[in-house]
Amino acid sequence: MNTNSVKNICEIYATAEHERVVLWSDPTCNYRGIIAIHSTALGPALGGTRFWNYANDEEASRDALRLSKGMSYKNALAGLPFGGGKSVIIGDNRTTDRERIFRAHGRFIESFGGRYITAEDIGTTPSDMEYVALETRHVGGLPGRSGDPSPVTAHGVFRALQACAQHRWGTADLSRRVVALQGCGSTGYHLAREIHEAGAALVVADVDPERVRHVVSEFGAQAVSPRDILSAQADVFSPCAMGGVINDETIPALKAEIIVGSANNQLLEPRHGDLLNDLGKLYAPDYVANAGGVINGCRELLSWAAADAAVKVNAIYDTMLELLDKSKAEGMPPFRKADQLAEQRLSAESFMGPISTGSTMTP
Ligand code: NAD
Repeated sequence: MNTNSVKNICEIYATAEHERVVLWSDPTCNYRGIIAIHSTALGPALGGTRFWNYANDEEASRDALRLSKGMSYKNALAGLPFGGGKSVIIGDNRTTDRERIFRAHGRFIESFGGRYITAEDIGTTPSDMEYVALETRHVGGLPGRSGDPSPVTAHGVFRALQACAQHRWGTADLSRRVVALQGCGSTGYHLAREIHEAGAALVVADVDPERVRHVVSEFGAQAVSPRDILSAQADVFSPCAMGGVINDETIPALKAEIIVGSANNQLLEPRHGDLLNDLGKLYAPDYVANAGGVINGCRELLSWAAADAAVKVNAIYDTMLELLDKSKAEGMPPFRKADQLAEQRLSAESFMGPISTGSTMTP
């Protein structure tokens, strides 16, 4: 790493509010990773491992800091006894040298002594987690355990969408509505299925034409180009691909009244959430809508019964509706209200104890 890079990274960390951030390397297998722990106020920091070809260490550091903070807020508002953390591995996630890379990652996680627990994220799979598990027990998302989180995440987003419809239109009925869905991958596919079953029409786009074809043939969706999905004539825009999709360029094109999807960090900057609010659009905070996956992971990490986890994922409807009602009553954009509630929970610095099922919002 050159001197400039070290200086830039020091500057990035100087403004961070994180408890601990560590860069680690294992030259024997070209492993380079970062673990960022934002908060352990509510319990050990939980958040997946992203394997990505970052342009440089600064970009990787920024991502780890942003994602781990997001996990603190997500876990806090979902009422889970976990703090927020995230790890990133810097490199080409198509590598076949997986055992050595993920065992190195496992040793890195083990050095945190249980303060950080990982699982899958973009670029990593359940079988990668099996390699991690050879070096540490602080890992979830293993094959044959809580299973692929994507259908559960998608169901939580669907419940959040119903709550938004109830709040905005006075009915959770989605028939005759049009949903523009960006990204037909793991979560997007399952969300498309639920939207189709609810009687809504779908307009979809993905940079991978094969993924679009599935959703078109199975759910009667209309396909548009990735560029046109943002300006599609629709009641709802559902971002289920990458973060930062709500920005200065995309906001003027957006036709939809409601924005709710699975993607993490949908707002490029907080001011873009304010801008949506000023335009009268309802932006459902992403980390409230997409908490289904992490709730499902509690089956594995906290031995929850599948039925209890399912009740809690369904309760994303109540959490979202309550949040929207509160933010309307207080004249505050929902994403700001969600941040405020999450920060209140985090600053209480108390372990939340046994989890009840049902709505998680405090009065
Ligand atoms: P995925 O990789 O399976 O699907 C993403 C899809 O988006 C891919 O098909 C990809 O080709 C497509 N895509 C990428 N760029 C695009 C663009 N510009 N326009 C249109 N399509 C584009 O990922 P996923 O698991 O479905 O996750 C999607 C988002 O949801 C991510 O932001 C992820 O962090 C978030 N998320 C996922 C889960 C989960 O359980 N999988 C949980 C919480 C949050």
